Amino acid sequence: MTPAPLDWQDGAPHSRDFDDVYFSRQDGRAETEHVFLQANNLPERFARWREARPFVIGETGFGTGLNMLCAWACFDAHALAGARLHLVSTEKFPLSRADLSRALTAWPSLAAYAEVMVEQWPEPVAGVHRLMLSDRVTLDLHFGDTTESLQLLDGRVDAWFLDGFAPAKNPQMWQPELFQAMAERSRPGATFATFTCAGIVKRGLKAAGFTWRKVSGFGRKREMLAGEIATPPSDKRRQSTPWFMPPAPSNAHHVAVVGAGIAGASVAQALARRGIEVTLIDRQGPGAGGSGNRQGALYVKLAAESNAQSRVYLSGLMHSRRWLARLDPQQSLWRECGVVQLALTEKEANRQARFSASHDLPPNVVEAVDADQATQRIGYSVEARLGLDYPQAGWVRPQAVCERLASLPGITFRQATLERLEAQPGSWRLHFANGDSLQADQVVLATAAASRQFDQTRRLPLQSVRGQVSQLPLTPAQHQALAPMNRVVCAGGYVSPPLDGVLTFGASFVPNEADCSLREAEHAGNIEELRRTLPALVANLEATGVALDPTRLQGRAAVRAASPDKSPYAGPVPDAEAWLEDYAALQKDATRVPEIPGRHHGGLWISAAHGSRGLASAPLCAELIASRLCDEPMPLWAPLVDHLHPGRRLISDLIRRRE
Ligand code: SAM
Repeated sequence: MTPAPLDWQDGAPHSRDFDDVYFSRQDGRAETEHVFLQANNLPERFARWREARPFVIGETGFGTGLNMLCAWACFDAHALAGARLHLVSTEKFPLSRADLSRALTAWPSLAAYAEVMVEQWPEPVAGVHRLMLSDRVTLDLHFGDTTESLQLLDGRVDAWFLDGFAPAKNPQMWQPELFQAMAERSRPGATFATFTCAGIVKRGLKAAGFTWRKVSGFGRKREMLAGEIATPPSDKRRQSTPWFMPPAPSNAHHVAVVGAGIAGASVAQALARRGIEVTLIDRQGPGAGGSGNRQGALYVKLAAESNAQSRVYLSGLMHSRRWLARLDPQQSLWRECGVVQLALTEKEANRQARFSASHDLPPNVVEAVDADQATQRIGYSVEARLGLDYPQAGWVRPQAVCERLASLPGITFRQATLERLEAQPGSWRLHFANGDSLQADQVVLATAAASRQFDQTRRLPLQSVRGQVSQLPLTPAQHQALAPMNRVVCAGGYVSPPLDGVLTFGASFVPNEADCSLREAEHAGNIEELRRTLPALVANLEATGVALDPTRLQGRAAVRAASPDKSPYAGPVPDAEAWLEDYAALQKDATRVPEIPGRHHGGLWISAAHGSRGLASAPLCAELIASRLCDEPMPLWAPLVDHLHPGRRLISDLIRRRE
C-alpha cells in the first residue's frame, strides 16, 4: 500500500489524488458531529446502550480518523459504565503516521484521544489492524478498498458513517457493490448518515434495502442523507462453507480458560478486558509449559508466495507488537530489537529472493538485506549472502508475560488438572483430578498437545513436538567482553541478544516426543546450529574464554503442539461426529455442499497448535476467540478466520475421502 500524497492548505490536509479535502479546517469537528453523530442519533443511542456486546460503528474512508475520534469522545461522554464501543473503518490510502499526527493537531480538544491512536498507528499493510484505544473502545482499521474490505468483514454494524471523498471526485468507491456490502454487514435496524445527496448514493442505498430521507446539512450544505435498514439480507458468504457458520452467541458471564501459557493467558486477558469473569486454570503455574522460557523470539516466517497462513502470521506479528507495547510500554518484558533471518542455504536464498520479488510490504515490517547490511544491523559479521530483517520483531520473556497476564484484574488463577468436561444445559462442568469441579458458562481450551485428551476434542489432529533451548550463563566480565548483539538472529534455529547475563539459543525440533528431560545431544545440536548461524559470535565467545560445551550448558525442554497444516486452531470446537454425519456427502462429491450449519460443542473453544510461533499467533487468536464469543466484529478478514477454524481439517479430510 502507498501512503496518501497530501497537500496542506491552511494546516488542513488535502488529497492530491482526489483533489478533495479530508475535513474543513474551521468547522470539521462540528461538521462530523452534525453529519455523522447526530444524524445517526448516537448521543442518545450510546446513553441507552445496555447490551453485553459492543455498539458497532462502520465507516467508509478513515482518512485522518476525525470521525472515529469524535465518536469515541461522544461515547465517553454519553455511554453507561460497562458499555463498549467497536469502531470499524476502511482505508485504501492510509496517511503516514507523521501526516496523521499533523492533521489531528487541528483539534486540541481531541489531543488525548489522537495521541493514543497515533501511537498505535499501523504500518500500511493490507488487512485488519486492531487497535485497543481504551479499556472499552476498540478500533479495527481495515486497510484496503472499502467495498472489498466490507465484503471480507466478519461482523455486523449498528451505525454507518458513509464518508469518502465526494462521489463526483471518487466515483469508483460509490458503486452498488458498496451499498450491498453495507447492507449485508448491517444489524437489523442499522442506521447510516452521509454528507452527500448524490443520486448515485440514493439509488444505491435504496437498491440495497436502505430507506433514506433528506435531513438538513451542515453549514452551507443544505441537505444530506440519513436512514436505516430494517431487515438486512442474510449473510450468503458461508453458503459454500456452512461448516464455518459461527455458533449463536450465548451466556458468557464466567468463562474458564484451561492452560496458562501464552495462548490461554492471552485469551483470559482478552475476555477480562470485555468484563467477563475469568478463571484461568493450569496444572502448574502460569507459563510453565511451552511458554515457560525466560526468553523467546517473536518472529514469523512468511511464505515466498503469500497465502492464508502467511497473512495470519503477518497480522499476528503486527498485532503482538501492539499488544506487547500496550501491556508493557517500558519494554521490560520484551524488546523490539528486530530479527534477522539469514539465508544460509541456496534453497533459502532462492525462497527469500522470491519473497522479496512478490511482496510490497514496507521496510519497517520486513526488508531484504545483503551480508553487509545484516552485519551492520546485527553487530556481528555474517556469512550468509542474503537475509530478511524484521525491524519490529524481537524477543519476549514469555513466562513473565504469562505471569503478568494471569495477575490482571478480572482473572482468578487456579492450579488444578482438568480431567473431564461435562456439558450441561447452557454451561459446562469442569472435573479436576483432585475430585473438585467448577461450573462455567463457557470454556476455552489452551492446553497445547494435551488439548485432544478430552472427549470433545479427541478428533482434533495435533502433534507433539519437543523443543529444547540451550542457555549459556556468562560472567559479567565475559558479557562485557562480547561485542553488543543488536538483533535476534535466526536461520535453522535462533539466538537472542544475551538477557540478564544469559545467552539463549536453540531450539531443537523433535516431532512426536513429549518427554521434557534435558538432553546433551540436543544441546550439541543447538551449538552446531549456532556455529552455522553466527560463527562470529561463537568466535567472540571463545576468544573471551567461554567454552561451548554441551555437558555444561543449561536449558529447558518443553512440548509444543502443531496441527498438520502448521496453522493454529482458534475458534469454536466442532462436534466432530456431527460433522462427519452432516457432511458425509463431501466424500463422494466435494461440490455437494449440504445446507447444514456447522454443529459445535456449544460454549467450548480452543486456541492451540501454535507450534513455536505462539508469541506471534496466540494474542491475535485470543482476540479472535473473544470477539466471536462476545458477538463482535472479527480481527481478521473472513477467509483468515476460516483458515484458523478448528474444524477445517475434518472437512479437508472428508474431501480427500480419508474418513
Ligand atoms: N472520515 C475521514 C476523517 O474522519 O478524517 C475523512 C475521510 S476522507 C474525506 C475520504 C477517505 O476515503 C480518504 O482517506 C480516502 O483515502 C478514502 N478512500 C477513498 N476511496 C477509497 C476506497 N475505494 N476504499 C477505501 N478508502 C477510500
